[in-house]
Amino acid sequence: MIYRDYGQTGKKVSLLGFGGMRFKNIDNHDECVQLMAAAAEGGVNYFDTAPGYFETRSETVFGKGFAEMRKRGLPYYCATKTFATTESGIRAEIDAQLKRLDIPAIDFYHIWNITTLDNWESRKKDGVLQTFRKLKDEGLIKHICISSHLIKDEIKQLLLEGVFEGILFGYSAYNYQTRQEAFDAIKEKKLGSVVMNPLGGGVIPQHPDLYNFIRREGEDVVSAALRFLWDHPEISVTLVGFDTIEHLQNVLQAMETYKPRTQAELEETKSKGSASFEGICTGCGYCDDCPVGVPIPQYMDTYNQKLLDKKSNDPIGNRLKWHWDLKKEGAGECTGCGQCETACTQHIPIINRLKEIANS
Ligand code: SF4
Ligand code: SF4
Repeated sequence: MIYRDYGQTGKKVSLLGFGGMRFKNIDNHDECVQLMAAAAEGGVNYFDTAPGYFETRSETVFGKGFAEMRKRGLPYYCATKTFATTESGIRAEIDAQLKRLDIPAIDFYHIWNITTLDNWESRKKDGVLQTFRKLKDEGLIKHICISSHLIKDEIKQLLLEGVFEGILFGYSAYNYQTRQEAFDAIKEKKLGSVVMNPLGGGVIPQHPDLYNFIRREGEDVVSAALRFLWDHPEISVTLVGFDTIEHLQNVLQAMETYKPRTQAELEETKSKGSASFEGICTGCGYCDDCPVGVPIPQYMDTYNQKLLDKKSNDPIGNRLKWHWDLKKEGAGECTGCGQCETACTQHIPIINRLKEIANS
């Protein structure tokens, strides 16, 4: 396992992190605990969850996993998050989290999913930063972090505020063009940086040929996508949502045989990526609360096919019919309220794409 500094916290974290959002059977606690313990035995010491993963059950499983690690003498750091912004809301949340996680303090506590700079200003007005600082003084959290899907100058501006110790953000071989600016700020402020969605929400393994630019001789596209991230010296942790022991072993093997690129080789690889990958839906589902019930992620996945499937004569029609059992006309139900575009982690022009689908 490779370990890197998490910013200026003095903590050495495993470059491979465990994401708690993809357990195969969250209600089989023994199976989940064994998976976490196997990761820890393999050297993983960064474990990331959230109250929203499996409706708090991921945190409960993490609590059992940490107990097992303590029994085996395996080190771990816990990362989790909160959407709450007021002091009373945050305190209620963290009380419940510490019980579920069965630990006295959270190592990396994240102000969860800052969607816009206005959203950040509004959370600050609610006192989120002051409360996080109090929790740190009280020893209930160790480090103040954020997660965000902002891109380009906005993510840089957010990080340059210099009030966080680290960030969790989506970064992969398909969206790296839109997030380079984050690394400028991460370097300048010496922040920890954890990246999620390393396979672009499944888009990369579904379209291996489009990602030949990251593959070196003999590499499968999944290993190549992870190694591409590991080549970034600014990245402290790459989160993978493991579902089975076999999956974990494959990724540990990819790290064991990993040969880093030089910085020049990495830049050359990046220069080969296609700008056409910008704006691809990752299926994260943050938009999936449409007031008129439009199933947005399914329609945006369908639009991905238009962008990615250059062979089909009717990529939209085929995807709707055979994959989602949806009609084009359903996309026309959109009233254009804009709620989904505000929530979209990839800054996708959802309204226009829905119109295009409806009129195709
Ligand atoms: S813009 Fe359209 S699709 Fe998006 S939330 Fe509003 S009505 Fe739903
Ligand atoms: S449209 Fe945006 S928010 Fe919705 S699933 Fe796709 S990437 Fe996520």
